[in-house]
Amino acid sequence: MKTMTCNQLAGACNLEFHANTFEEIKEMSMKHGMEMFQKMTSLILMR
Ligand SMILES: [Zn+2]
Repeated sequence: MKTMTCNQLAGACNLEFHANTFEEIKEMSMKHGMEMFQKMTSLILMR
């Protein structure tokens, strides 16, 4: 079991990713990053 934080993956928060392989962590962080990006974009568009 590997644990990495969003921070360690050059992210902006301390969310932890748990997975068996680095590939899985990479996928999780990519999905998480996309969600954050979409949230940010919708926040900007709402202004
Ligand atoms: Zn994050």
